[in-house]
Amino acid sequence: MKFNAKMKDIKNYEAGKPIELVVREFGIEPKDIIKLASNENPYGCSSRVSEAVSKIVTKMSLYPDDSMMDLKSGISKRFEVKDENVIIGSGSDQVIEFLIHAKADENSKILMNSITFAMYEIYAKHVGAEILRTTSQSHDLDEFYEIYKKEKPAIIFICTPNNPTGDAIDSQKLFDFLSKIDSNTLVVVDGAYMEYAILKDAKKEVKPKELIEMFENVIYLGTFSKAYGLGGMRVGYGLARTDIIKELYKIRPPFNVTTLSLEAAKVALSDEEFVKNSIVANFSEMKRYEEFVNEQKIDIIDSYTNFVTLCLNPSQNSSQIAGLLLKKGMIVRDLSSYNMNAIRVTVGTKEQNTRFFELIQEIL
Ligand SMILES: *Cc1c(COP(=O)(O)O)cnc(C)c1O
Repeated sequence: MKFNAKMKDIKNYEAGKPIELVVREFGIEPKDIIKLASNENPYGCSSRVSEAVSKIVTKMSLYPDDSMMDLKSGISKRFEVKDENVIIGSGSDQVIEFLIHAKADENSKILMNSITFAMYEIYAKHVGAEILRTTSQSHDLDEFYEIYKKEKPAIIFICTPNNPTGDAIDSQKLFDFLSKIDSNTLVVVDGAYMEYAILKDAKKEVKPKELIEMFENVIYLGTFSKAYGLGGMRVGYGLARTDIIKELYKIRPPFNVTTLSLEAAKVALSDEEFVKNSIVANFSEMKRYEEFVNEQKIDIIDSYTNFVTLCLNPSQNSSQIAGLLLKKGMIVRDLSSYNMNAIRVTVGTKEQNTRFFELIQEIL
């Protein structure tokens, strides 16, 4: 059968291997498997969320509230914007899909960092847009600007902190950059790990409210999958001026977020204490990674997120090492598909990290 010609060029997103798959492939007991591959919150989610969700399971036969009013107003209050500035997606992934479909086509160019979140490219290929990349590993906004001036892309993706490298941009530098971009270019600021960055260094904080007030062409993306611990519920959001949000609504399918997910995210917003504690624990555990790699003479990228990127020595092959870890029940993310000889490891609980140190030492 012939498919849309654009399909030829699209590769599947390589998701972190689910625990269930490792159970089947390697016959390891689920209790012996540790997944540090998808940057989930190792402390789960707020207990308030599980209580609230269990109370409304009987609502499953009804379609969700498509206005998403409760969650929308929770998000708008949290970020001090208006309800009209919010769109909610099945993960912020879906908002990325909406905005690329709304803004770009096969005559468009989309600019992104050399190494960054893989979904930007996949959705860009849906519409046949040309993908432009910078050359430097971390976001070099001067280089972005040079390419922007020459190529006039329809969309620019800025991921801060960046996945899969963990580095973040100073917000002042970002604002200087944004003020040089014309209003017909959509700039996406993906803040999937912003909650982490803010706690480590206030200079990295990008406030969606300020973005929206200052720029008519910028959309901020956030998610409940990381710090809020709701990866399994698939809730993310975009915050922008109403002109942009209105266009994205034309692409959004009805009922794109489930009743249970809407409730979970709403309640998660009410427990900032849980989020804060998770982040504090994250950075205290991250210190152990920094000490460990020092001893092992492995390079690590300074991370503003809940993961660390270990850049291996040329004598160590990242795919091979990730494979050996997998056989021992430890799932991490091999970054060879990004042309990096590196592995990305989600910072887990104390016990999980200790186990990682043991296993990687055995292997190296
Ligand atoms: C995890 C992640 C997202 C989106 O996650 P969802 O689960 O779809 O909300 C977006 N951008 C980056 C950089 C991420 O790491």
